[in-house]
Amino acid sequence: MVRLAALEELDLLETPRDEGFERLVRLIKEIFAVEIGIVSLIDAHRQWYKACSGMGVDEVPRQDTFCRFVLDDEAPIIVQDATKDSRFAQNSAVTGEAHIRFYAGVPLVTRQGHIVGTVCAIDRRPRSFDERDLSILKELAGAAMDRIELVQHATTDSLTGALTRRAFKEEADRLIALAVRHRQDLSCLVLDIDHFKAVNDTFGHACGDQVLQRVASACQSEIRRGDPFGRLGGEEFAVLLPSVDSDTALAAAQRLRAAISSQSVMTSSRPVNTTASIGVSSLSAAGENIETLLAQADAAMYRAKQTGRNRCIAWHALGVDGSTPRRRVLKAGSIIFDNRRSVIECTIKTLGEEGAGLTVSNSIDIPTEFILAIRGDAFEINCRVIARDRQHLELSFG
Ligand code: GH3
Ligand code: MG
Ligand code: MG
Repeated sequence: MVRLAALEELDLLETPRDEGFERLVRLIKEIFAVEIGIVSLIDAHRQWYKACSGMGVDEVPRQDTFCRFVLDDEAPIIVQDATKDSRFAQNSAVTGEAHIRFYAGVPLVTRQGHIVGTVCAIDRRPRSFDERDLSILKELAGAAMDRIELVQHATTDSLTGALTRRAFKEEADRLIALAVRHRQDLSCLVLDIDHFKAVNDTFGHACGDQVLQRVASACQSEIRRGDPFGRLGGEEFAVLLPSVDSDTALAAAQRLRAAISSQSVMTSSRPVNTTASIGVSSLSAAGENIETLLAQADAAMYRAKQTGRNRCIAWHALGVDGSTPRRRVLKAGSIIFDNRRSVIECTIKTLGEEGAGLTVSNSIDIPTEFILAIRGDAFEINCRVIARDRQHLELSFG
C-alpha cells in the first residue's frame, strides 16, 4: 500500500515527544476553544498520536476512530454533533465516558500527496465550524507537515542528547558496512525502560523526563566514546558496539542494566528507581543492516520483558534460525485463529523468510499459534509466537 510506504519513509511512529507538535495541539485548543487537539499518524491497525492535548491516551484501534473516515474520504470531516450522525452516534467515544460530541479532522498530507494521518479539533459539546475555521485547521495541518519535514533532519534528541532514530541508523549502517568489509564483529543493544508508564502516571511527566535523562546519561557513561547511542522512541534506546562479539555485548548489556537499576531520581515524596530490559544482537552474516540487527535485538528485548524484565537476553538464545535477514516493512496484516472465527488486525513491522515482528492494539487474547495473513501480498503462513509484550509479537514461521 502506497500510503503505508509513505508513512514508513517518514519513520515517525513511536518517536519521542516533540515540543513543536505539542505547541500545535495547544494552538488548536486555543484557537477553536475546544478541549482536545490531536496530530495523529495512522498505520494499518491503529491511530497513533504524535501529539495530543486533552486526552490521556497514546493510541486507539483504527476501526474505532473518527479519523478513519478522513482517510477513507481523503477529505476533511466535520461532525457538529456526533449523537446526530449515524456514522458516530453508536461509537464508544460518543456513548461512553469520553463524551465526544464535536469533531473536525483534516488530512495530514505529504508533499507527494499521501495521507499519513490527521490533525483534529475535538470537543465534548456540540459546536459549529465555519469555512474560516476549516481553513485555519488546514493551515495548522500544513504547519504540522512542515514540522515533520524539519525534524527529519535533526540528529540529536533535545531531552537526552542521544542521536535521533534516523541519525542513529545512518551512523549504524556506516559502521556495519565497515565491519562487514573488514570481517569484524559488531553488536547492537536495544534497551526499553520497564514500567515507565507507571513513573509518568505516579510522579508526572517532568519526573518521567528526568528518569529518561538519567537512564541516557548512565548509558553514555558506560559505553565507549564514539559508540553510537540513539533514542529509538519514547523510552527505548539503542547502542551500537563496533568490534564487539555477542558474549562481550551481553556482558556490556549487563553492565548497563546494573548501572540503570542502581540509580534513582529524587521526587518530592520518595526516590524513584527504574530498571530496563535489554536485547542483544550481533552481526552474523554479510549483508545485514541495522534494521535486521534492531529487529533481532527487539525480539530478544521482548523476550526479556516476557520473562520478568530487568534482564538481558541475546537473540541467539531465542533459538530462531537467523540466517536470512529480516527487512523492515510497514504492512497491513491479519492474525487469524480459532478455526478462522477470530481475526485481529495488526501492523507488520519486520519480515523475513523465517519470521516477522508485528504490533497489535492488545496482544492478550492472541494464542501462541495462529495464521498470519498479509493482505496486500495475498500471503498466509502458520506462525508461532517466540516473544511478546502488550503490543508486540515476535513470530517464527512454520
Ligand atoms: P514495559 O515494562 O512493558 O516496557 O512497560 P512501559 O510502561 O514502559 O511501556 P509502555 O510502552 O506502555 O509505556 C511507555 C510510556 O512512555 C508511555 C508514554 O506516555 C511514555 N513516554 C514516551 N515518551 C515520553 C517522554 O518523552 N517523556 C515522558 N515523560 N514520557 C514518555
Ligand atoms: Mg517501549
Ligand atoms: Mg517500557
